[in-house]
Amino acid sequence: MAALPSTIQRLIDLGIDVSVETGFGDSLYIFDKDFEDSGAEIIKDRSEGLAVSDIVCRINKPPEDEIHILKEGGIHISFLDPFNEKNLVDAFVSSRSTAISMELVPRITRAQKMDALSSQANLGGYAAVIEASKHLTKSFPMMMTAAGTISPSKVFVIGVGVAGLQAIATAKRLGARVEAFDTRPIVEEQVRSLGAKFVKIDIGETGETDQGYAKELTEAQIELQQQGMKKVCSQSDVVITTAQVFGRPAPRIVTGEMVSAMQPGSVIVDMAVSTGGNVEGSVSGETINLNGVTIVGLSNLPGEMATDASLVYGNNLYNLIEEYWDKEAKEFNFDIEEEILSGCTVTHQGEITNKLLK
Ligand code: NAD
Repeated sequence: MAALPSTIQRLIDLGIDVSVETGFGDSLYIFDKDFEDSGAEIIKDRSEGLAVSDIVCRINKPPEDEIHILKEGGIHISFLDPFNEKNLVDAFVSSRSTAISMELVPRITRAQKMDALSSQANLGGYAAVIEASKHLTKSFPMMMTAAGTISPSKVFVIGVGVAGLQAIATAKRLGARVEAFDTRPIVEEQVRSLGAKFVKIDIGETGETDQGYAKELTEAQIELQQQGMKKVCSQSDVVITTAQVFGRPAPRIVTGEMVSAMQPGSVIVDMAVSTGGNVEGSVSGETINLNGVTIVGLSNLPGEMATDASLVYGNNLYNLIEEYWDKEAKEFNFDIEEEILSGCTVTHQGEITNKLLK
């Protein structure tokens, strides 16, 4: 959900009238009555809400046929996947509404409280480890019992951004032996500070953008990386891949050959499955078994922790609105020249405004 009742209450405290579509929270056992108690109005007809609202908040990109209903000059805030959704972006242009894309919130300190990629990736990293533990037929921690000693599971995390760090921390908390790799050398220290081992592979010059994202590797570098991590994968009980390159398909890191070198019973969670996949053979939205190796391809891992994912996503939206809300005038102070808004706004007043997208 894009907001829990507690978040809606805070929006109302700013002087905003909030309406919520009927049944909005049913799947999380939060019912219309709970939203009414927080001060929201329940509306039965979504189109009516879209047509009259100054600001529309949702999680995912809208269906194309809902964009033309939006109020001219209204603000629509959601994940938008704008680099892959030309038709949606064009529809926003012709509706003359303002589209804010949560993926594009700049990575500057002032915008951290609005950074939904991070808030969701953090829960996703946690959920990936919990998901792996469900499929693994072994325990994560070492146990010394009268009935014998159980050795700890070995977990290998590939890609140590927000999701990867949380995956490492969670696997460590559960008592696993954890190793990790990332192409950004700066990460080594962070991995060690969590008590995990950094796997060193020499793939030559790598780096990161000024937003902290990894630069894309060459084909030769990817091959070196694959060779370097083949042995670690084959000795791991769990491999969690989180590698992403902003605005590009995810790099293919774990090959079919590497999967077949893993022990039957081991588990891979491909967190990049919805952007092309880090693992050969992973299927978006499915959990499959390849010669005894379980490959989890859940495309919405934060959704496995939906109440908390909704809490933090709603807080991201609240923080964005609150930053620009003029309490006196009761309006959103929209300034396309302002650093955060110019970064995350895709369309405004009938034009594509985002520089990257242009
Ligand atoms: P991401 O989701 O784009 O990528 C996940 C990880 O995959 C990254 O660490 C990346 O280096 C890694 N990766 C890419 N190609 C790889 C490959 N071939 N092999 C192994 N790993 C590969 O990244 P993210 O989680 O969004 O964050 C990246 C960094 O940005 C993190 O260090 C994070 O702390 C930082 N960050 C900063 C801010 C801020 O406001 N300053 C906000 C959010 C994140």
